[in-house]
Amino acid sequence: MNSKTHNHLDIGSILSEKGISRTNFRTKLVNYFYSSNKSLSVDDILKYFNNSINKVTVYRSLVSFENNGLIHKVPDTNNLMRYSLCRKEECSPISHNHNHGHFICYSCNQTFCLEGVKYPEIISMKGFYVKEFKLTAEGYCKECYKN
Ligand SMILES: [Zn+2]
Ligand SMILES: [Zn+2]
Ligand SMILES: [Zn+2]
Repeated sequence: MNSKTHNHLDIGSILSEKGISRTNFRTKLVNYFYSSNKSLSVDDILKYFNNSINKVTVYRSLVSFENNGLIHKVPDTNNLMRYSLCRKEECSPISHNHNHGHFICYSCNQTFCLEGVKYPEIISMKGFYVKEFKLTAEGYCKECYKN
């Protein structure tokens, strides 16, 4: 298991701030999100922990993180459950307030948050209730396009 820890972050206080019950696994999982700086699928997580963690435990933790505004689901071409960290300014334990698109890379299958790409006006049009809106670009990421 990769034991690289994030020295600048107090993962324990991030969890308690969000009202997420703290376990050894959850602490390591949040640390993984911060240190890898990538979107993660359930498979990525299982692999990272060398399959030493029960799949159900992984799902439960992800749902708890999502419900508490720590991570959000991002689109994935393979229809996997894939998550990225939320930004502190956008999301709280009460609600997610995303206003950004996503980019999916065909080559590495990584999903990136496009913080600079905002939703169009229709989202806040009077009388319209938008339940779901997708703003997704697909192609090759910086790393993959180079090669
Ligand atoms: Zn969020
Ligand atoms: Zn890529
Ligand atoms: Zn995102």
